[in-house]
Amino acid sequence: MQRTLFEPEHEALRQSVREFLDRHVRPRYEEFIAAKAYPRDVWIEAGKQGFLGLQVPEQYGGGGVAHDYRFTAAMAEELATVSVALGSCFGIHSDINAPYLTELTTEEQKQRWLPKYCTGEMITAIGMTEPGGGSDLAALKTTAVREGDVFVLNGSKTFITNGYSADLVIVAARTDPAKGAKGISLLAVETGMPGFTRGRKLDKVGQEESDTAELFFDNVRVPVTNLIGELDRGFIHMMQRLPQERIGAAVSNLAHARSILAETLVYAKERKAFGQAIGRFQHNKFLFAELVTQVEVTQAFVDAGVLAHTRGELTAVDAAKAKWWTAQVQNDVLDACVQLHGGYGYMNEYRVARAWRDARVTKIWAGSNEIMKELIGRDLGL
Ligand SMILES: Cc1cc2nc3c(=O)[nH]c(=O)nc-3n(C[C@H](O)[C@H](O)[C@H](O)COP(=O)(O)OP(=O)(O)OC[C@H]3O[C@@H](n4cnc5c(N)ncnc54)[C@H](O)[C@@H]3O)c2cc1C
Repeated sequence: MQRTLFEPEHEALRQSVREFLDRHVRPRYEEFIAAKAYPRDVWIEAGKQGFLGLQVPEQYGGGGVAHDYRFTAAMAEELATVSVALGSCFGIHSDINAPYLTELTTEEQKQRWLPKYCTGEMITAIGMTEPGGGSDLAALKTTAVREGDVFVLNGSKTFITNGYSADLVIVAARTDPAKGAKGISLLAVETGMPGFTRGRKLDKVGQEESDTAELFFDNVRVPVTNLIGELDRGFIHMMQRLPQERIGAAVSNLAHARSILAETLVYAKERKAFGQAIGRFQHNKFLFAELVTQVEVTQAFVDAGVLAHTRGELTAVDAAKAKWWTAQVQNDVLDACVQLHGGYGYMNEYRVARAWRDARVTKIWAGSNEIMKELIGRDLGL
């Protein structure tokens, strides 16, 4: 079905992202996997082309298009055609963290951080999850105790994307132990602050190239000028920004599934068994018909969500629906694509195998499928 979401200006951005990926990312991908990270020069190149600061006002070096989420969505779709990891690492920095750093910061903070954020000289991460739990965010244990003009930060975070290479991490910490969700604040922890250390890059089932790390805070003295947003309102700040994170995840989930499904269709037309293309067996033909329908029908919901977010009307519940459903559809589609590739589908040299491993986590991160259903169920009055 013809999509009507994007205008020529979004397609123009998509084309330049595609050229950047063809020139600077795809040819070097094995190198990134071996390094378990995207090297800084790739970030800097993305920054030069304006891809990191789309949501940042122009006076700080950004693209100034925060009002139209379709630009971010078009870029996310292209990143997802390379891998889930690329979409995640660049998406955390340029999409998920953007509203924290543009909407909640003071003028002094904007001038200090945003120009380097846009150029890629400052890579960012966000640390919500702790070893003791991620779903129950309000129960986080990292503490930040005010002492004069600093907060003394103690605790740890885990599974943090870009955690190893980040120059600035937005850390959710408890500033008032008595107030539960109403006692959490957001602090910018920067490289070089004494007491801030990182563990090893975590060994994951997929997405080797994405840098995922544990972070440790041992009496880190974070200046009060690094408080992001209002004291004790960090939980609300996060809840207000999670719909953008979740519609962004939905966009990536589906674009990733679409791209692998298209490749699998080509494979099924070429690969022969019993004297004919494997795609022509009625079982497989019907399977493709089902998968393509699933993807296209889902696309209509996701596009409506992107448009709603562009209008400032996306609800947390609709974002939750888009997030869990696309994660499920993506996993179902990729599992079928592996099956259609036969033994080759299990070989790492085939993109489909990596894609299948990479995608598994999308049902877990950014709010698990169960947590998304919990939100939807509550909205039904249950
Ligand atoms: C590769 C990767 C990258 C990540 N990147 C980041 C990042 O950059 N920043 C960040 O802060 N976090 C990040 N995360 C963490 C991620 O968001 C959490 O793993 C996720 O929120 C789940 O938290 P948990 O792992 O502690 O699981 P738990 O909260 O312990 O949950 C375990 C299981 O119980 C289920 N469960 C929990 N509560 C309920 C409930 N009320 N009802 C039903 N079921 C429930 C969950 O759905 C899950 O299946 C990342 C994780 C991974 C794996």
